Amino acid sequence: MQKVAIVALGCPKNIVEAEYLLGIFKNKGFEISDNLDEADIAVVHTCSFIKTAKKESEKSIRDVLDIKKKTGLRVYVSGCLPQLLKEKMSTFFPNIDGFVGTGTLKNLPELIFNKSFGKFLFQPGGLNNSSHRLLSSSIPSAYLKIAEGCNHRCSFCIVPVLRGDYKSRKIDSLVSEARALADSGIRELILVAQDTTSYGKDIYNAFALDKLLIKLSRIKELRWIRLLYAYPSSITDNLIAVFEAHKNICKYIDIPIQHISKSILSAMRRPLNTVAVIEKIKNKLPDIVLRTSIITGFPGETEKDINELIAFLNQGYFQYVGVFEYSNQKEADSSRLKKHVKNSVAKERRTLIEKTQYGIFKSKIDRMCGDTIDVLIESCLKKNNKYHIEGRSYFQSPEIDGNMMLTGDRPLVVGKFYKATIKGVSGYNVIVD
Ligand code: SF4
Repeated sequence: MQKVAIVALGCPKNIVEAEYLLGIFKNKGFEISDNLDEADIAVVHTCSFIKTAKKESEKSIRDVLDIKKKTGLRVYVSGCLPQLLKEKMSTFFPNIDGFVGTGTLKNLPELIFNKSFGKFLFQPGGLNNSSHRLLSSSIPSAYLKIAEGCNHRCSFCIVPVLRGDYKSRKIDSLVSEARALADSGIRELILVAQDTTSYGKDIYNAFALDKLLIKLSRIKELRWIRLLYAYPSSITDNLIAVFEAHKNICKYIDIPIQHISKSILSAMRRPLNTVAVIEKIKNKLPDIVLRTSIITGFPGETEKDINELIAFLNQGYFQYVGVFEYSNQKEADSSRLKKHVKNSVAKERRTLIEKTQYGIFKSKIDRMCGDTIDVLIESCLKKNNKYHIEGRSYFQSPEIDGNMMLTGDRPLVVGKFYKATIKGVSGYNVIVD
């Protein structure tokens, strides 16, 4: 039986696809391995959203090709990078055995077996659904990809080129996958898509995320249902009401705004009513925890724009802000804009925003000191007769918002929820006991 290993790079949507791919391979009789040195076949599932992601993908491919030199394993590359570069990729990596894009992932096993498929299979899209899914992590937390592609055309973004137009999955299909995940022990479900809040518009002619969330909230084993990648202008009153009404929907939303200056937002082709949307959410849900993403150094950005952004952040709407320096990609329309900002200036502005935001984050947690909250335990290691335990609370997404940290005399069970009291911060981690 052939052993296959997948290197999954990029965003949570890519992780879900890799888990579907693992499930499809297993179902076709492959043995799944996480050790590249013993694998017969390796798949590098790539990302090419921005320059740094492209570089990371190319480095991973080279690393796997180094193993190929030693073991002779067959190497296939899938996802956003081959979808972007197409046949050109084989000039950069002639020793790769096959390339599949984003919309042809499910055909990868055939491409491996069936030489008549040739070496290339490209089509924009995504692996949106599969009755076979192999979760890649042991913690009781899983992503649910509710749609693929995007109908927006933000000027700095190439995702619509790579992933095509917006395609929602049917509510029933998502609820049955969520049910199966809950039955397998998942207690936190994280909803992802390029834009989760446009869910349903294409198949139900109306925003239907609120209806999906209500159905998912009825799966009582799910303690936390979390929403990432909300798009400002498709936040409806019905959606906000669902957050109020359902206890197991986390009082947390990730809503990338990218900037606040109207001149920059219009150059980005992003909604101009972002301030009003954030204020509406905070007026209706004052205790909700918000995360956002910001780009610094977008063409045309001035000191005045950055000062406006800092003034807005200082109003304290967001607990977490991911800051990215503008990545100029020739495939994106923004590359043709004038007044590009020096990388060094983009970096300075990023540091300034990060410093500003850390102060805001710390003062929010300081105000929570003494509060008792639920913590989902994710690791428990014994060192020098003490247990070093990490977990997360409802206001922390995996890998991006820091962890809850505690040191104790007794072990806690990974995957279980415990009550803990907030004591303070250590960087972006929160100290509890
Ligand atoms: S909403 Fe904009 S940034 Fe996000 S995937 Fe769509 S086009 Fe890209």
